[in-house]
Amino acid sequence: MLIDRPERLVADAAAPKGTRLPANDVAVALDRRLSRETEGEVLFDPASRGRYATDASIYQIMPVGVLVPKSDRDVSIALEIARDLGVPVLPRGAGTSQCGQTTGAALVIDTTKHLRNVVAVDADSRVATVEPGLVLDHLNAQLKPLGLWFPVDVSTSAQATIGGMAGNNSCGSRSIAYGNMVHNVLGIDTLLADGAAVSFGPMKEATGRAAAIGAFVRDLALRNRGEIEARWPKVLRRVAGYNLDIFHPQSEKPYTDDDSVNLAHLLVGAEGTLAWTRTLKLKLAPLPSAKVLGVVNFPTFRAAMDAAQHLVTLGPTAVELIDRTMIDLALANPAFAATMRTALRGEPAAILLVEFAGDAKEALLTRLVRLVELMGDLGLPGSVVAMPDDAAQKSLWEVRKAGLNIMMSLKGDGKPVSFIEDCAVPLEHLAEYTDALTEVFARHGTRGTWYAHASVGTLHVRPILDMRRDGARKMRSIAVEASALVRKYKGAFSGEHGDGLCRGEWIEWQFGPRLGEAFRSIKDVLDPNGLFNPGKIVDPPKMDDGALFRFPPPEAPAPYRTIALVPVLDWSAWDVQNDPRTEAISAPGTGGDSTGGFAKAAEMCNNNGHCRKFDAGTMCPSYRATRDEQHVTRGRANTLRLALSGQLGSDAFTSDAVRAALDLCVSCKGCKRECPTGVDMARMKIEFLAHYTKRHGHSLKDRLVAALPDYAHGVSRVAWLANLRNRVPGAALLGERLLGLTAKRKLPTWRSDTFWRARNASDFASAETTLAAARAGVKTAVLFVDTFNGVFESENAIAAARVLKAAGYTLHTLEKGRGHHCCGRTFLTSGRVDEARVRVGALVDALVPFAEAGIAIVGLEPSCLLTLRDEALALGLGAKAVAVSRQALLFEEFIAREAKVGRFAVAFTPVESPLLVHGHCHQKAFAAVAPILDVLRLVPGAEPTLIETSCCGMAGSFGYEASHHAVSMAMAEASLLPAIRNAPHAIVVADGTSCRQQIAHGAKREALHVARVLERFLPSP
Ligand SMILES: Cc1cc2nc3c(=O)[nH]c(=O)nc-3n(C[C@H](O)[C@H](O)[C@H](O)COP(=O)(O)OP(=O)(O)OC[C@H]3O[C@@H](n4cnc5c(N)ncnc54)[C@H](O)[C@@H]3O)c2cc1C
Ligand code: SF4
Ligand code: SF4
Repeated sequence: MLIDRPERLVADAAAPKGTRLPANDVAVALDRRLSRETEGEVLFDPASRGRYATDASIYQIMPVGVLVPKSDRDVSIALEIARDLGVPVLPRGAGTSQCGQTTGAALVIDTTKHLRNVVAVDADSRVATVEPGLVLDHLNAQLKPLGLWFPVDVSTSAQATIGGMAGNNSCGSRSIAYGNMVHNVLGIDTLLADGAAVSFGPMKEATGRAAAIGAFVRDLALRNRGEIEARWPKVLRRVAGYNLDIFHPQSEKPYTDDDSVNLAHLLVGAEGTLAWTRTLKLKLAPLPSAKVLGVVNFPTFRAAMDAAQHLVTLGPTAVELIDRTMIDLALANPAFAATMRTALRGEPAAILLVEFAGDAKEALLTRLVRLVELMGDLGLPGSVVAMPDDAAQKSLWEVRKAGLNIMMSLKGDGKPVSFIEDCAVPLEHLAEYTDALTEVFARHGTRGTWYAHASVGTLHVRPILDMRRDGARKMRSIAVEASALVRKYKGAFSGEHGDGLCRGEWIEWQFGPRLGEAFRSIKDVLDPNGLFNPGKIVDPPKMDDGALFRFPPPEAPAPYRTIALVPVLDWSAWDVQNDPRTEAISAPGTGGDSTGGFAKAAEMCNNNGHCRKFDAGTMCPSYRATRDEQHVTRGRANTLRLALSGQLGSDAFTSDAVRAALDLCVSCKGCKRECPTGVDMARMKIEFLAHYTKRHGHSLKDRLVAALPDYAHGVSRVAWLANLRNRVPGAALLGERLLGLTAKRKLPTWRSDTFWRARNASDFASAETTLAAARAGVKTAVLFVDTFNGVFESENAIAAARVLKAAGYTLHTLEKGRGHHCCGRTFLTSGRVDEARVRVGALVDALVPFAEAGIAIVGLEPSCLLTLRDEALALGLGAKAVAVSRQALLFEEFIAREAKVGRFAVAFTPVESPLLVHGHCHQKAFAAVAPILDVLRLVPGAEPTLIETSCCGMAGSFGYEASHHAVSMAMAEASLLPAIRNAPHAIVVADGTSCRQQIAHGAKREALHVARVLERFLPSP
């Protein structure tokens, strides 16, 4: 067996530590032994390794292989094997590090799938013991009922693991009150490089190996005491190097409550270089029962920076900055605009979010009053927007947390790059420091956006650099100048995100050679043979070594290039460049992408890991079901990027490895809306399938599913025959064998009473009458009836027509021959883009006269109607498609809009049952769920409840496929089906035909399209 390694990943003896791959036979032996001796998943194929080659930094190093251990025992065995074979080990949590510390030519051990349990919680002493792969938000969800939380509130709380947070000595917005990880870790149980299980905790309780290590480090610290006092930054936010100062703390905040020494703190911030963390003992805090927020609006950025030192005297739990660029980006983002507006008074140059927390809201309100007074004293009366309301605060914090992600959505090769993004300076120098650094950026032809932790002098700033071109050179020059400023103001060069590859070489600059040597001797004592994450903290490579970049520049041994590809969809909006000074984007199609913008669209993923979240929202249902990196949006985007840049071998783009990565993508479009950089995997899957099927052909099942709209009308005539599959014993099993459609489900029932046969023809006006009515100012609409609501569930379309007629609309519906027009969705889903284009083109042609007359095109099935607002615009259909997209509305969107302006008024009869609503993923992606609730509320007595769900798991034909049935059910069982079972008397509302089928199969309940609910409560004629 050969471990496949493309050119740029070949072992190179001269390569820096941590970047050298072992010989092939060693890698093969490692793979074999791990597979044989552990129960974990062992991933050594190029695509899997590629998915673990990056974190949220600019770097990429191919690992030797990946182990996803099932248990602590697996880890212990893996360490032993790695030690035997001389292969380094790289512990990994969510891989959201920004500095490259989670990349390396090592065996990556991923804790997130199985090692994520809360081991124990002692609520009385406020201590929790957890496994390293536990995500912070998941821990806090478990602690909430106890009135406790773990208060190191990193922005990545929905995906960051406690092990990774400890590895990086992470800190959150409220660090001024709670400190960093180092202030909140009480103990760490480890496996050392030689396999010994050693517990690190209070020095006074240490015995055996821990005591010996403690004594060694204490002596080392003593010998270097003078140097520590002279060199160590005195700010709270210092995370560089090892915490050698635990014996003589230099931090503004003591590491322990009683000033004692805790040896676990030596491992905090060690970036996985000293030991494997098995469990962590954490100090919990009482959950504040009340919080208030004051948003201070500043006329200049400098005024905001000057004010920080005064604001902290009020004792806030957070003072967080959002600058004008970030404000503008948030205002331009539909997900954040409304919230952002609530915080603004006029057009501030910057705002500071000042939070106070405590036991009682009344007491906190007086702190807000003091804030207002202080700002008056500082010459800024009327600058504070008070936010006592919890919901408003939460929304604004979400915008602040999304800060970096908002910034990273910039299209083009220039990206905001992290390397000096978290320098920390004392507050009295913050204004001068930010002014001076802004000048540095300007001298290098770029600029930075500033945000984050003003309370502790750590402002995040990332200049826009093009790492594929001259970024490396500029990066070094800017770092040199920034470091001089940090020294001038006695700050810390590495204040939050760690050292990794981008700041490793600055550790000695910060601490000097003697302390550099001291760090090396700590590494030598704990990990003498360099088993753990070599090349980080000790012996790091150069920060600007282009060979280690995700996008290596032309002078690197293997520069980044993309393959030539003619895309089937229009990706030109991504094929652009930007101006680093103004962030202005060039015209679509001018970016020089050899794939017409498709590769650049995949490259938008910056690995921040937000798609690994499990909270509200849709993204990413397949990851939620499998917890595999392969099945998360990030894993898919990385796979595409690697394939499109030839890093997975030739012809990799149309390979089975890429197909496997996209296989469980249900095309829910969750990422289109929720990925902060707008990675739209559903659209990418269409592009991929078009090329893949060109090479490999279509399966019979795919052909049958795609062409359903073509034959549905004809087959409906012999519905009884088509329904035999559901009735005749053995037919379903035969279908599974021949077509791959699961025998575990009934297929939708064919019926002869289609909408086109069963409708009341007099309900519909001709095209001419409708256009004339619109011209005369009469209320009109075109009802677009899709295959599913037209053939299988004609009662929905008939109900929609009845409701609209009852409200007095002149209605027209489209007909093609004796059947219907098709939106192309089923063809798109199987990558048959040319055929989709023909059908969408015909539909657009049929609709455009109405659209141009300003008549709404009203659809029922979200995935069909919304195709007109999404993919139809990427098929090269020109202005006609744009005109149609502007008038295309879902039934509920139309009614909600009309009701708002008083054009839809129907005296519905009251409802008594509870209403439980499940939003279709595409409705969520297009912010079209709220209108369902709005129109249901038109019914007297209706109090609809939205089920907090991701994808229902059916997703067109996905859930019908035998190979996907289990995953499909797992998605449904995550929250949708239990919520429905828990509400036995509720009317269940679901607009998606797939969702209704999944609910019928899984919960044995009928769900109704909102049109049918409204029809049910129409007044009697
Ligand atoms: C958009 C964005 C916002 C961010 N905001 C913040 C913020 O507010 N505050 C902040 O501090 N950071 C922030 N970060 C950085 C990062 O999210 C945090 O450092 C986070 O805590 C890392 O967690 P992780 O699970 O991703 O760790 P990983 O990146 O997987 O690992 C981090 C380090 O810990 C080591 N490690 C992991 N598990 C173990 C183990 N079992 N044993 C030993 N070592 C281990 C790894 O080797 C690595 O060196 C942000 C990053 C992004 C992309
Ligand atoms: S796909 Fe989007 S959300 Fe996921 S890591 Fe990439 S950029 Fe972040
Ligand atoms: S479309 Fe849905 S399933 Fe596919 S990657 Fe995006 S969020 Fe995940």
